[in-house]
Amino acid sequence: MPVHACPIREGARHHPDAEALTFAGGAWTYRALDAEVSRWVAALEAHGIGAGARVATLATNHAASVFLYWALGRVGAVLAPLNARLTEAELTPMVDDLQPQLILALESLLPRLPAALPLEAFVKPAHTASETCGALEDASPRVVLFTSGTTGRPKGAVLTEGNFRASSRASAANLGAHPAPRWLGTLPLFHVGGIAMLTRTAYEGGCLVLHERFDADAANRAFDTERVSHASLVATTLERVLDARHDRPLPPSFALALIGGGPVPVPLLARARAARLHALQTYGLTEACSQVTTERPSEADGRTAGVPLPSVEVRIVGAEGLVQEPGAEGDIEVRGPTVMAGYWQRQEATRDTLRDGWLRTKDVGVLDGRGRLTVLSRRTDLIVRGGENLYPAEVEAVLLNHPAVQEAAVAGFPDERWGEVPVAFLVPRVGQERPGREALEAWCRSSLAGFKVPARFVWLDALPRNAMGKVERTVLRKQNLR
Ligand code: AMP
Ligand code: MG
Ligand code: MG
Repeated sequence: MPVHACPIREGARHHPDAEALTFAGGAWTYRALDAEVSRWVAALEAHGIGAGARVATLATNHAASVFLYWALGRVGAVLAPLNARLTEAELTPMVDDLQPQLILALESLLPRLPAALPLEAFVKPAHTASETCGALEDASPRVVLFTSGTTGRPKGAVLTEGNFRASSRASAANLGAHPAPRWLGTLPLFHVGGIAMLTRTAYEGGCLVLHERFDADAANRAFDTERVSHASLVATTLERVLDARHDRPLPPSFALALIGGGPVPVPLLARARAARLHALQTYGLTEACSQVTTERPSEADGRTAGVPLPSVEVRIVGAEGLVQEPGAEGDIEVRGPTVMAGYWQRQEATRDTLRDGWLRTKDVGVLDGRGRLTVLSRRTDLIVRGGENLYPAEVEAVLLNHPAVQEAAVAGFPDERWGEVPVAFLVPRVGQERPGREALEAWCRSSLAGFKVPARFVWLDALPRNAMGKVERTVLRKQNLR
């Protein structure tokens, strides 16, 4: 089994003066980051954290989380970054499940985790560098990420060193080599997209331009003045970036952005490309260590979520468990070195999700003749109206094209006649007159089959979104429509 050294230590040997991290006005070269990580190792050892221990954190993006991640790798311990948006009541079952040996939280979040120590103040002057720098195997667990899940207790996906290495390698092979990548880090480090970005930059000897949270103006400043070459965004943050810069083109230092986490409107990607923001649609999930498929830079048009990354396999499975031909819809399954080891202490859920090495994603999609994946819906968001399958994303795309619509989400509601019907939730665009029900129906009818036209249109001030900016359809489905 291959063993791996810490990439920060390697970086300190091979390119010590290259920039590794910037955050809140501070900057660390690989040499400086290596020294900082060594002090974090000393602090961990002083708390008795060694191989196999689990450390939970509660933090918005902060340089301390980066130091901690690499220090935990050197002692062989596992990081469980908890979602900083969750309440104490939501966090408690995760902590009970994980039984961490240590909990660290940013000072401002301490009230939500009474057992936590302050993350920013974890390293004390007495903690001088520790030389401990153990090697990791592919199978070594690195991270436990709790997935929200629409039903039942949250489950902790266990991702290994091998998962992150394979994901980084496959991503780089698809995106193409870059002499000194600088990734804009606005995704939260408590999400797989954030951690994958952290590891990817280190394995490539690049720099993570870490932001505390997404802010469109700060992101644009980083694009324009900090030589950012890569970014990972979701559809809403991409739109906010473009709005804030009034579609002013990005500088030549910018290479490309990954856009995923949910459905991506094709016109938005075209608009981005016109502003020199070369954006690739990607499909990924926590259990597969971020990207599964991504558009090839040379043929990206935003119409699909692209092809499986090198070393990753995708298949579509139909109703009777039969593997589908191109063009036929079904459940998306994934196999390869990026697929998680399993769920933390949940044998049954693991058996149910990982079958013969195939990860059952609970997403519905279709492959085309060129191996490109289109993600249609999450299995639970699929609406079946009188026997016809209807995908919220398709209806939302039509509604978003309406000039008076800023945001749109479609969710299924029970119906006596049809079993289920789609209901559209709309956020109006400021300064535009809200169209009435008949006008909206006519708008939908002009480009959608009749059964796809929403049965109701409900205006809201904002859509319910989770920490990743994803629309929470489960919340919408609980709306009392009267
Ligand atoms: P998470 O469970 O937070 O890791 O989010 C992964 C989920 O986001 C997937 O299972 C999909 O349902 C959704 N998703 C990710 N990328 C896309 C995409 N390009 N199009 C549609 N849905 C996506
Ligand atoms: Mg999920
Ligand atoms: Mg619109």
